[in-house]
Amino acid sequence: MHTFLPIAYFENQFIPFENAKISIATHALHYGTAAFGGMRGIPDPGNPNQVLLFRLERHCQRLSQSAKFLNYDLPADKLQQIIIDFVKKNKPSKSFYMRPLVYTSGLGVAPRLHNIEKDFFVYGLEMGDYLSPDGISCRISSWTRQEDRSFPLRGKISAAYITSALAKTEAVESGFDEAILMNSQGKVCEATGMNLFIVRNGHLITPGFEQDILEGITRDSILTLAKNFGIPTIERPIDKSELFIADEVFLCGTAAKISPVKQIETFKLPETRPITEQLKEKLSAITENKDPDYKEWISVIPLE
Ligand code: PMP
Repeated sequence: MHTFLPIAYFENQFIPFENAKISIATHALHYGTAAFGGMRGIPDPGNPNQVLLFRLERHCQRLSQSAKFLNYDLPADKLQQIIIDFVKKNKPSKSFYMRPLVYTSGLGVAPRLHNIEKDFFVYGLEMGDYLSPDGISCRISSWTRQEDRSFPLRGKISAAYITSALAKTEAVESGFDEAILMNSQGKVCEATGMNLFIVRNGHLITPGFEQDILEGITRDSILTLAKNFGIPTIERPIDKSELFIADEVFLCGTAAKISPVKQIETFKLPETRPITEQLKEKLSAITENKDPDYKEWISVIPLE
């Protein structure tokens, strides 16, 4: 079971998490007309009176953009202030994950985005490793990632996660840890809540935005790190067969961080992963605010 942070932001105020309740007639519950974010924070290893958040500004910007698809104007700077206040109220003492959600909060029946109230809440939970840091096994999903022509894939829209949920359960129930989904063009897309990278001949390769991926913030951070390390990076379509013969494959996301892949279907991947390890180590130092070159990615929140 999860350990939830004690205070939630709900209906414009901070209240105990267990009192934040919605009606069974809430529109978003029926149609998935909601969008969410996911952010990680940790207590500052160098100062117990402060908390470090990774790329707060970028996360708030993405959620504000997702809200636009719901016909809801939620400025990123407003969101950012609420998240900071949320952290100060909760004073988390362990590694945690925050889940802001914008949704159609009215009690209407017709699927629509106009003439229905919207709202926004935030709650949090303690979170350690989401996937095993030692390497995971993946299957190729029988489910295909949605296409941008029928779904706003630039937003993190709740309804899209039925596909992730189907793919994850299919993978786990058939003995794997995670699923890799192809897109409608039959190219490699991403996992159920993570973007995907492969390494071939010293090149770091990941599907581009035109491949129907979610515009992951960890993905963006990794591309920046790799460029600064001098690792050649390529954003291009990836074929399924490349996965099986790659030198390294890893998944990345806020919850999963960098998760090495050790097996895909029946193909075992090499056990040495120099580029994955180099990126992983750097990302972890940055999130602990130990790397002055990337200080602008970290928000330091004093707990008073
Ligand atoms: N793809 C999907 C479908 C996701 O849900 C996530 C998690 N937000 C990601 C990729 C990774 O995105 P990020 O690095 O911004 O967490």
